[in-house]
Amino acid sequence: LPVLAIVGRPNVGKSALVNRILGRREAVVEDTPGVTRDRVSYRSEWNSRFFTLVDTGGWEPDAKGIDASVAAQAEVAVDLADAVLFVVDAIVGATSTDERVVKMLRQSGKPVMLVANKVDDAVQEPLVAELWSLGLGEPHPVSALHGRGVADLLDTALRVLPEVSAVAKEEVNGPRRVAILGRPNVGKSSLLNKTAGEERVVVNEMAGTTRDPVDEQVELGGKVWRFVDTAGIRRRVHLQQGADFYASLRTTAALEKAEVAVVVLDVSEPISEQDVRIIDLVLESGRALVLAFNKWDLLDDDRRRYLEREIEQDLAHVAWAPRVNISARTGRHLEKLVPALELALESWDTRIATGKFNAFLAELVAAHPHPVRSGKQPRILFGTQASTRPPTFVLFTTGFLDPGYRRYIQRRLREIYGFEGTPIQLNMRVRE
Ligand code: GDP
Repeated sequence: LPVLAIVGRPNVGKSALVNRILGRREAVVEDTPGVTRDRVSYRSEWNSRFFTLVDTGGWEPDAKGIDASVAAQAEVAVDLADAVLFVVDAIVGATSTDERVVKMLRQSGKPVMLVANKVDDAVQEPLVAELWSLGLGEPHPVSALHGRGVADLLDTALRVLPEVSAVAKEEVNGPRRVAILGRPNVGKSSLLNKTAGEERVVVNEMAGTTRDPVDEQVELGGKVWRFVDTAGIRRRVHLQQGADFYASLRTTAALEKAEVAVVVLDVSEPISEQDVRIIDLVLESGRALVLAFNKWDLLDDDRRRYLEREIEQDLAHVAWAPRVNISARTGRHLEKLVPALELALESWDTRIATGKFNAFLAELVAAHPHPVRSGKQPRILFGTQASTRPPTFVLFTTGFLDPGYRRYIQRRLREIYGFEGTPIQLNMRVRE
């Protein structure tokens, strides 16, 4: 989907605008400085067109950090978005921070629309004229709070937003796109340097592809791979506040572009909540997943036993992901990364023919029928795979299937077809 990002200083009303666009009333963020949220992107719809709305406003720094954090937001937005809504406070007018961000946004060459928020009624309209001075063209007056002007804004925004995201368009036959993810210090840049550094980094591009400067193409195992958003790994952002939010933003940005994610974990430390959260972001994105257990050279027998237990406890829900036990420092088992990526992508692309899938369902039901619930037994009438990437199945049923039964179907799918390295989606259409 094309990506529309919302950028702006704290308190200009970004969250209110996000809520308004999503058609919700509840506030995403209160007036609390430093609030962190994981969720940064939302699937949105306007006039039957779908797009991804990215909200960079989840962390509102204190006064000292404003420039750094707004710049960081803008930077991610620019990397990720197909168009940007830059929000300013019409009552306050353009500030020096606004001007700095504008400079960056203009250099990006992405379409930017200037949104003048807090124009609650016509009396305030004259304030808007001053914002022409930012050099972003016509300011669009809105009141995110009351909804005034938001419909017009979206109409215009969707005119500049491409039908499909630039990434999707470019990539039909391009190299496969890999995101290296993980919390700080797990060894992402070491891994990148070890692979991209020693193998030949592909410099020349195929004609007609516009290469994103934040990506790197590398030849590995006889094939070209694109590591996306490597700038996010190489460029280290040091923020006092908002580091978590920034990390989530970057992770989401990278996932948006990637087909498969390598989540790097540091075996010398306990698996943390943050590790699990990153894995959950991958699952939410529907991308293929490989787990890289790094710093294997630091593992002693004691730690190893703990690690096994942690994996069982914290990573049971992704037991299907291929694992590689590596050391970016010594180079141990780095050659196993490519086969793991290939396996995960193959699963991600797998399509099961409808006939086969229904035979599978019939067998599964015969072996273990759905339990009877208050005198009724939901039946599966028919199933089909609606899409790949990730494999998504639709079941037509006569009633809702128990969560346990759905898990059983998922388990059988993996037992029979493998699907190593890919999430599987199971949707239901109930015919009463
Ligand atoms: P990033 O923040 O995820 O990019 O992590 P870095 O690649 O900067 O690595 C963080 C620290 O871990 C650095 O001091 C690396 O030298 C070290 N490191 C990375 N990989 C390994 C490894 O496989 N073994 C050991 N012993 N140290 C490693």
